[in-house]
Amino acid sequence: MNEAENRTRSDVAVVGAGLIGLATALELATRGLKVTVFERDTPGSGATRVAAGMLAPIGELEFGEPGLLSMSLRSRELYPGFVAALEAASGIDTGFRETGALHVALDRDEAGELRRSMDLQQSHGFDSGWLGPIAARELEPGVSPSLAGAVLVEQDAVVDPRALVEALRFALTEVGVEIIQAEVTGLLRGPNGRAEGVVASQADFPAGCVLAAPGAEAGIAGWIPEEVRPPVRPVKGQVAELRGDPESPACSRILGSERVYLAPRPDGRLIVGATVEEMGFDRTVTAGGAHELLREAYRLLPDVAEMEFAGIEAGLRPATPDNLPVIGPTGIDGLVIASGHYRNGILLAPITARAVAGLIIDGRPGEEIGAASPTRFKTEEL
Ligand SMILES: Cc1cc2nc3c(=O)[nH]c(=O)nc-3n(C[C@H](O)[C@H](O)[C@H](O)COP(=O)(O)OP(=O)(O)OC[C@H]3O[C@@H](n4cnc5c(N)ncnc54)[C@H](O)[C@@H]3O)c2cc1C
Repeated sequence: MNEAENRTRSDVAVVGAGLIGLATALELATRGLKVTVFERDTPGSGATRVAAGMLAPIGELEFGEPGLLSMSLRSRELYPGFVAALEAASGIDTGFRETGALHVALDRDEAGELRRSMDLQQSHGFDSGWLGPIAARELEPGVSPSLAGAVLVEQDAVVDPRALVEALRFALTEVGVEIIQAEVTGLLRGPNGRAEGVVASQADFPAGCVLAAPGAEAGIAGWIPEEVRPPVRPVKGQVAELRGDPESPACSRILGSERVYLAPRPDGRLIVGATVEEMGFDRTVTAGGAHELLREAYRLLPDVAEMEFAGIEAGLRPATPDNLPVIGPTGIDGLVIASGHYRNGILLAPITARAVAGLIIDGRPGEEIGAASPTRFKTEEL
């Protein structure tokens, strides 16, 4: 190896500085590897930037997703340790708060739907219980007085993904991880086909192995050989931000109705989310999206009318055909993938980071992620 290669060679090249790439880079570097991260834009500017940051394995539970539930619960369990280490390293408050969530039915139809969600949660052994209007408003006095009932999920929590990214950047610098601002356009392959680095800004960056964490672009990324490209597609979400007084917050928990959720930040902001739109890679903020979010937020929590409107953004959730992420080795030796986290990438970052670090360092996932194996699509989709 010549001197130039020596200077730039890493153990792992991570492509994509969203929460998944950054959290995994930190886990790898903390375990002693030399890691370089490649990001075309600024770190955290993809889906991670717009996410509400709900850590809600129970409140967001849907029918037919048992594989996701066990991963989500485990990652929720890892969260306090994950943020404590980051906050200690960076001095940054990540906004992690174990607030719980109150899911509210605003009319009789919504009450029927909410009761079904509660039954599902109870069938998995969770103690979610039905609250009448008076009990619900004792917990959250700002909620619409015309509510039909509510379910309290005490285990759900919230974090500020932008603050997490800042804390991660700080912690990564401390452990010597370089983030290079460049678009990865190619994969370096060895004589036996093994992935041996990436091409970015027309330069070669050799590495012992490559982690693809490009979010919603995984399904179209030209640099990932077609035969191992996972069936990931973008699902657009618009999110509004309101500002209020941190001394008298509009709500103290995550609030959810059938059509909207409100996630409080410690500094008085309230995140209103989110639309779900199959629009390809379009990230336009629309009048219709803004109208829907604000109308439903007002229906749920009328006090939002007094809050400052701070803006709306759109992001692209990396979705897969079965709503499970794609985490693990690909058919190309030395190329590992972590994408497809859809609605739960903030929640699933700690388990993903540990699983991938285990795979790369020990040759087996550091956490149980069986249901997320990329090979499950091999016969139908690849
Ligand atoms: C509206 C909305 C609300 C959400 N709310 C929640 C929530 O409450 N809780 C939750 O857990 N999850 C939520 N999510 C989901 C979560 O945001 C995503 O699952 C998660 O952010 C995915 O992270 P990522 O790192 O895989 O992707 P991203 O954050 O999109 O990062 C991928 C990065 O890779 C870079 N990149 C791609 N290709 C290249 C290349 N060739 N070269 C260099 N760089 C490249 C991109 O620029 C980008 O920065 C939400 C998502 C949306 C859109």
